[in-house]
Amino acid sequence: MLDIFVIGGGINGVSIARDAVGRGFTVGLAEMNDLASGTSSAATKLIHGGLRYLEHYEFRLVHEALAEREVLWATAPHIIWPLRFVLPHQKGMRPAVVLRTGLAMYDYMGGRKLLPPTKTLDLTKDEAGKPLKPGHKLGFEYSDCWVNDARFVVLNARDAGDRGAEIHVRTKVTAARREEGAWTIELDGEAGKTRVRAKMLINAAGPWVDEVINGVMGKNGKHNVRLVQGSHIVVKKLYEHDRCYFFQNGDGRIFFAIPYEDDFTLIGTTDRDFHDDPRNVKISEEETSYLLAAANEYFADTITRDDIVWTYSGVRPLYDDGASAAQEATRDYVLKLEGDSSTGAVLNIFGGKLTTSRRLAEAALEKIEAILGQRGAAWTKTSTLPGGDFGVKSFDAEVRRLAKDYSALPPSLLRRLMRLYGTKARVILGTAQTIADLGRSFGSDLYSREVDYLVTQEWARTAQDVLWRRTKQGLRTSAEDVAQLEAYLATSTS
Ligand code: FAD
Repeated sequence: MLDIFVIGGGINGVSIARDAVGRGFTVGLAEMNDLASGTSSAATKLIHGGLRYLEHYEFRLVHEALAEREVLWATAPHIIWPLRFVLPHQKGMRPAVVLRTGLAMYDYMGGRKLLPPTKTLDLTKDEAGKPLKPGHKLGFEYSDCWVNDARFVVLNARDAGDRGAEIHVRTKVTAARREEGAWTIELDGEAGKTRVRAKMLINAAGPWVDEVINGVMGKNGKHNVRLVQGSHIVVKKLYEHDRCYFFQNGDGRIFFAIPYEDDFTLIGTTDRDFHDDPRNVKISEEETSYLLAAANEYFADTITRDDIVWTYSGVRPLYDDGASAAQEATRDYVLKLEGDSSTGAVLNIFGGKLTTSRRLAEAALEKIEAILGQRGAAWTKTSTLPGGDFGVKSFDAEVRRLAKDYSALPPSLLRRLMRLYGTKARVILGTAQTIADLGRSFGSDLYSREVDYLVTQEWARTAQDVLWRRTKQGLRTSAEDVAQLEAYLATSTS
């Protein structure tokens, strides 16, 4: 019998599985599709305090999230790195003094040691003013971090697996019932229909959390979660510098423009209540128009639908605190424990952010240990995720070392591999000396050696998994390459 069984392979499920197995619990996890196929690959991808949450007095959340920036950066400096955000002051919106006060609080609450502080910008002189419409004079610049969200999930799962957790992908939990003081959990997936027993159940099903309570566990629980859709558009690169923009929109909302995957700019996000099946979430016409209009208020060059190369949408599984507007619903997490060690306990997880996932896991472990007894101490704060075992300031030095050791391979490929896999890039490259040694090409710079690694080490099964979650090569791959990759995966995963 396992100690813990986790439902859901999004960031919350894998973070709890990793923390728990590292403390000595036996852990199983089932994800019904691919890891990170739910909300956790559809984020704006920031490790951030959430400047705007200050307006909603979410001080606990902002404080915890700000402090996590440097913790997580050190944990995975290949997939997490600092960004600078330019916040232009816009007449008729929040006054400069409000922005300055918010940013001073952000700096003060943040526990910053390495991230540079806020500063004021003269946008008539600074390069950041150039892509903007004329008239922007005053701006502020502050720090937050970037995260490759889908890889953040996979690396947590990989680490949990390496420490002994059983990770089942494409495996749905169809039923969970209490029997003789523990849970019997029915699984339907890659291994067919199977059954496991566990002392405690963790419901980290994200947007499906209520469905698990009501359907899988067969309760008639009340509705707890508020589903709030957010969409992004990806357009051809809008400007040359490496900073992001934090823009205020006329409706009081904010949105970001962020350099993305070298050749693109990411713009988002929206906030609207969602009442459909989370599997079917996709950007609406209205959201597309909203984001284009919002961006066109700021950028000098007009952006049209023709510039959009990709869009994605996700559903925030927020705890329903009864807020009137979707953008006001709390972004903080809520953990609800039900049952005890004699009946079999369940911990339901609501809300949360990528940024606070490690802390959410620690909070979950407190509740788990209250039921199952204490094992090891908290440990994740100073550990690294797979491939992240180099210093936060050493990324470029690691790329140079890789280029020296693999001098016949293109520097752009080596840099890309270092960004995705960190020091594990060497595991993928192995003894390869030339491009020919990397195996079959699937367009762009994706070769079968990398694909094989994703299948054997990172649970990739389909072209979607490889092209849109483990990598973003989908942005550069033709339909023919996708078909070839599908055919290759069909033979290598069968
Ligand atoms: P999910 O990632 O959805 O994982 C739940 C998983 O459970 C799914 O993969 C699903 O397939 C699986 N599942 C469900 N039912 C079953 C079952 N019966 N059996 C097996 N598996 C099951 N956070 C930040 O920190 N920074 C940001 O910049 C940011 N931006 C965001 C922008 C948008 C538009 C959105 C939507 C969210 C954003 N977030 C951000 C929040 C963050 O993405 C989410 O809080 C987080 O991804 C939620 O993770 P989760 O594990 O709860 O849910």
